[in-house]
Amino acid sequence: MDGFDGDAEITRRSDNHHPTIWGDHFLGANEWEEKEHKDLKEEVRKMLVISPSKSFQKLELINTIQLLGVAYHFEHEIEETLSNIYNGYEEWIGEFCESDLHVVALSFRLLRQQGYYVSSDVFRMFTDDQGNYNKSLVNDMQGLLSLYEAAQFRVHDEENLDEAINFTTTHLKLMLPKLSNSLSIKVSNAIKYPINKTIAKVATRKYISFYQEDKSCDQVLFNFAKLDFNTLQKMHKRELCDITRWWKELNLANELPFARDRVVELYFWSLGVYFEPQYNVARKILTKVLCFVSITDDIYDTYGTLHELTLLTNAIERWNIDAAENLASYMKLFYTALLHLYNEVEKELAKENKSFRVNFAISEMKKLVRAYFQEAKWYHGNTIPRMEEEYMKNGIESSTIPNLATTSWLGMGDEATKEAFEWITTEPPILVASSIIGRLLNDIGGVYDIFSF
Ligand SMILES: [Mg+2]
Repeated sequence: MDGFDGDAEITRRSDNHHPTIWGDHFLGANEWEEKEHKDLKEEVRKMLVISPSKSFQKLELINTIQLLGVAYHFEHEIEETLSNIYNGYEEWIGEFCESDLHVVALSFRLLRQQGYYVSSDVFRMFTDDQGNYNKSLVNDMQGLLSLYEAAQFRVHDEENLDEAINFTTTHLKLMLPKLSNSLSIKVSNAIKYPINKTIAKVATRKYISFYQEDKSCDQVLFNFAKLDFNTLQKMHKRELCDITRWWKELNLANELPFARDRVVELYFWSLGVYFEPQYNVARKILTKVLCFVSITDDIYDTYGTLHELTLLTNAIERWNIDAAENLASYMKLFYTALLHLYNEVEKELAKENKSFRVNFAISEMKKLVRAYFQEAKWYHGNTIPRMEEEYMKNGIESSTIPNLATTSWLGMGDEATKEAFEWITTEPPILVASSIIGRLLNDIGGVYDIFSF
């Protein structure tokens, strides 16, 4: 048969070239990283799914994933496992934990962290009748560390967990000189910065380094955590860049030279509230409001005269641009910029029918200013307020916590419902308690001016 037949055998030459040494490098770092991130994430998900649902191995994996700061990718899988363990908790403790302090303490902590209340009676198997922890535990480094971390999640009247803090702190510190250098750094860090009192991003960064040194380090998990951390950091830098530009254009730092100029530190404060990508709008709004809260604090605490502060407080109560007329010129600038910010936020939220949220935030800003004004009146009048009835009552508001908690929800998704905003304005006990802690810590630590309100 004549003609060209595709199936005909053709001998072709080949030079056996090695594959490109560039890989997908010039696809653009973003594209390459995105693919790598996606692939690694699926591998980690598989690890989670494959490990038996009620196994210590899975619990350890969840713990590592959380400490590496990537748990937000696997919320569903983690919740499923922990709720399973919670539903069969007694069986879990009886059959799986084998009186191993590390396993018992880790289960307890992960469940409480997830919001499951499990009883601290479970630790009685490690104490004598007087509630003293068994001497045999003093060389169990892993067990002591896990008990220390579990006890951070104690509530009032859990004396055995108060005792656990004393017991573990004492014996872990005694153990430090005997540990290897890297282990000793890890343990000292765990004692100094308990999991529930540390900014997530800072803890993650440290833990990634500890994990790298760990004998049980899984390369896939490690690579994923590192890539995720770096990806988030790039995003955070872009956000900070936008916010800094806004702050420069506003020019308040130049116009009000007496006020603290702390935009980067305040962005970091917002990052402590939430670091995940979906909260980028929320972080931006919270940081901007924080900049104004910080200036307001300086106006009321140091710069403003009582007369100026009276006028400013009245203007903020009115929340109307016409009220700017009566103000001192430096305050006029501040006041118009403040109203403008909330207007902008309202416009942005209106696109998603969420503008109702702004009124809750404005109302909290008014409450904060009232509290600041009260403090200024005490100061200028040389009055010492009574501690409980006056100072602390006012201090709940002046802590800024009620304001910032409400503000932190402005740019969040649909989970920030109208009911949630209504609930928080009723000053629920959890908010009051946080505010009191915030107020008192702030008063004690006032010398560190960065976050002091
Ligand atoms: Mg203050």
